[in-house]
Amino acid sequence: MRYARQEKLIGKQAQKELSKKTVTIVGLGALGTNVSSLLARAGINLRLIDFDKIDLTNLQRQSLYTEKDINKQKAIISKTRLKEINSEISITSFNEKLNDSNLHLLDSDLVIDCTDNLTTRFLINDYCYNKIPWIHTAAIKETGVLFNILPNKPCLKCIYKKNIDLDRCEEFGVLNSIVSLIASLALTQSIKILLNKDPEANLLRFNIWNNSLEKIKVNKTCEKCQKSL
Ligand SMILES: [Zn+2]
Repeated sequence: MRYARQEKLIGKQAQKELSKKTVTIVGLGALGTNVSSLLARAGINLRLIDFDKIDLTNLQRQSLYTEKDINKQKAIISKTRLKEINSEISITSFNEKLNDSNLHLLDSDLVIDCTDNLTTRFLINDYCYNKIPWIHTAAIKETGVLFNILPNKPCLKCIYKKNIDLDRCEEFGVLNSIVSLIASLALTQSIKILLNKDPEANLLRFNIWNNSLEKIKVNKTCEKCQKSL
């Protein structure tokens, strides 16, 4: 039984439910490759979106790629690797950049933001608003964050008021350990959201260098969410 160890914790029925769920991963970089590997192993169907090619500097943390994949498309290699991990799940991949005209690609049971910029995140926020649950993740240097954005709960604009340029890993670096930790948190929250089992309400911020975990309460402060109060 492929999922025997997981079923011991969540139950056979819950595993059956997971096998009917589909999660969309936006961005197949560090977080996207790590979290999609965990989701595939957990028996959850996947939709993958990325437009980029694999670069040698990606291999330090982007766990689905190897040296022979350099310059190949992330969406295509990810699908191949994930199918090798679990041939029983459905995996669809889109070699596309998410923009105004292809947001329907997000239609699924859950979206995980594994991008690196607020422009794409705001597109996800607007499209999923009060409709599709999604998980915001980010990692830079030795710090990572995760925030579940669920229907009728605070949204990303309650955290980021406007589009700013975020610090980039190219410039500031990132440890692969914080990436896999945030991916692990994201897999756990995915299972909780998909099975309706009390997902985390706070924003989680973890510093893996000094092992500090902050749980930050987010309030409905953006214009749209305030209207719904
Ligand atoms: Zn909001």
